[in-house]
Amino acid sequence: MEFRDLKRQYQAIKTEIDKGIKEVVSSSNFISGMQVKELENKLAAYVGVNHCISCGNGTDAISIALMAHGIGEAGGGNKCDAVFVPDFTFFSSGECSATVGATPIFVDVRQDTYNIDAVSLERVIKRILLTGKLRPRAVIAVDLFGLPADYGALKRICEKYELLLLEDGAQGFGGTFEGKRACSFGDVATTSFFPAKPLGCYGDGGAIFTDDDEIASLCRSIAVHGKDMGQPNDPDSKYNNVRLGMNSRLDTLQAAILLPKFKAFMNYELINVNRVASVYNSQLCGITGLVLPVIADGFYSSWAQYTVQLPEGVERSVVQAKMREAGIPTMIYYVKPMHMQEAFAGTESALADCPVTEKLCKSVLCLPIHPYLTESEVDFICKTFKNILHQI
Ligand SMILES: *Cc1c(COP(=O)(O)O)cnc(C)c1O
Repeated sequence: MEFRDLKRQYQAIKTEIDKGIKEVVSSSNFISGMQVKELENKLAAYVGVNHCISCGNGTDAISIALMAHGIGEAGGGNKCDAVFVPDFTFFSSGECSATVGATPIFVDVRQDTYNIDAVSLERVIKRILLTGKLRPRAVIAVDLFGLPADYGALKRICEKYELLLLEDGAQGFGGTFEGKRACSFGDVATTSFFPAKPLGCYGDGGAIFTDDDEIASLCRSIAVHGKDMGQPNDPDSKYNNVRLGMNSRLDTLQAAILLPKFKAFMNYELINVNRVASVYNSQLCGITGLVLPVIADGFYSSWAQYTVQLPEGVERSVVQAKMREAGIPTMIYYVKPMHMQEAFAGTESALADCPVTEKLCKSVLCLPIHPYLTESEVDFICKTFKNILHQI
């Protein structure tokens, strides 16, 4: 059994994917081919925003979005910009703030949703304002494990303190909150097409979403060496670079692979993965001390992960070993709070008060989940998991 079975997915849509790859190879428009634009248009329409700007990966997408908003640039006296980031997330969410020149400040998450805790966020913003060393600029809200963050509360806080709200939807694509789709929340949103994400390609890829024409144009410029966006058909502006940027484009091949994958995602994968999650929920409920993922009213998850919290006293490594013996792979997302990452040692970012994250890092376990998992496989996983918990 695979943790996320990409081979089964390929078998299901092989004809279309092979055809798409062949078309790109025979046309040889490897960079910025027409499939890239077609994909961007379709993704923007699905998400419900004016602009989708594809790029090289989900990490670049966050950096480009921050750069387009001037986060991390010197200014505002000699104060460094503070960006508020959940402590329980993948490294990129915090890394990008630091690489663009800002200081990530880590905020605790909620034990039930795994997403940034609005109450802790406001407390930390007040602390930073009181200390006065940093200038609060942005909040990066992560849609962890497929579930959109609490955008109602987050928007209110960002408006109150005049902060940019960036949605890191790398794991959230396909989720919804109050009828709106993930990657449409906040001032700007990003996603990743890393193969294991809800919508993945066959390598690296990412995208930025925004309603703002000017920010969209800035993102496009930054993604291609800060090129002049003035006159797209003017050869003089093509090689005129008006700002420093990076080289971060989505390959035409990856766009061609994503087009049929996106169709399958919309047509049945999202529905199937939700079915798998509900089988897990119904079979695993009622086990003493085991905490299952909570999807509150008004939310819909794209289930990038199915993450449980093991009962207290249960040795996680033993559970993993026994599951492995039965042929079931499990993963731990995440083993380390962001503020304890060595890269931040000795910096302002290391000073965080995040007891929930620290507890989660010790107790979470992710079970296999993907749209091609059969009901009998989920059955087998649940029975095995329950037996192991009973034995321990
Ligand atoms: C995967 C991930 C990213 C980074 O995406 P890449 O495409 O791997 O660069 C950023 N944030 C979160 C929450 C992620 O899970």
